[in-house]
Amino acid sequence: MTITRFAPSPTGRLHLGHFWSAVQAHDLARANHGRFLLRIEDIDGTRSRPEHVQAIIDDLRWLGIGWDDDIWFQSTRIPVYRAALDRLGAMGLLYPCFCTRADIAASASAPHGPEGIIYPGTCRALASAERARRLDLEPHCWRLDSAAAMAQTGPIHWEDQQIGRVAVDMGQLGDVVLARKDAPASYHLAVTIDDAAQGVTDIIRGVDLLHATHVHRLLQALLDLPTPFYRHHPLLLGADGERLAKRNGAPSIDVWREAGVDPAQLLAELRQGRFPIGITVACA
Ligand code: GLU
Repeated sequence: MTITRFAPSPTGRLHLGHFWSAVQAHDLARANHGRFLLRIEDIDGTRSRPEHVQAIIDDLRWLGIGWDDDIWFQSTRIPVYRAALDRLGAMGLLYPCFCTRADIAASASAPHGPEGIIYPGTCRALASAERARRLDLEPHCWRLDSAAAMAQTGPIHWEDQQIGRVAVDMGQLGDVVLARKDAPASYHLAVTIDDAAQGVTDIIRGVDLLHATHVHRLLQALLDLPTPFYRHHPLLLGADGERLAKRNGAPSIDVWREAGVDPAQLLAELRQGRFPIGITVACA
């Protein structure tokens, strides 16, 4: 059975780009008599807000997009993520990292990847005695030793319905964080575990998350989880040519609501790949 999902983080209001993703995932499930799930990715306790959760629900209802089953909240699943972390730790693939953002930024030689500076691996090289001493004393996150992980899995890939076959390459991401100082699991770990736990068969999301799939595919291989089909769709651009994003000030759905836009018509137009004036699809 086809199972798709929409998995927003409640760190702001939804914009049209979110809606377009949600509609595509919803319609794929409906076309195949499958299930469409809503999951709230609220593990980041410092940025997630209950009012945004309610707004996501209200906005989807306004658009007429219904989901199946109860909504999952990642904040209730911390023990599951911790167990996966323990498993990766027992495989010798995690190390604690004591570096601050400033430490990492100061390593001027570090190249940039899609998630910012690629971590130069400073703490990977710490002697075990120093590591043990600092663990009790200093705040730390846990990083995946990507090279060691890839050595365990060997070459892996996924099939992307938009892009084709993609070979996992951790070079552009380096040793990603799997558990943060201030949050018990990172997006990468939680999303991978939950997509498997919910039996998601098809992941439809924007191409801005393409790099993340390299990590997710690697985690699936390490944790013996199935690999769903992926489709990373092109992003929507605003009138300024910038991609719609919370941080670019993209108009949130309440702006369309308050402007008296007819949600049924908006939904029908999104389905035909027609967007309100000023919004275009980026070239794939
Ligand atoms: N929670 C993520 C976000 O809002 C998206 C997760 C996903 O679709 O994989 O950016």
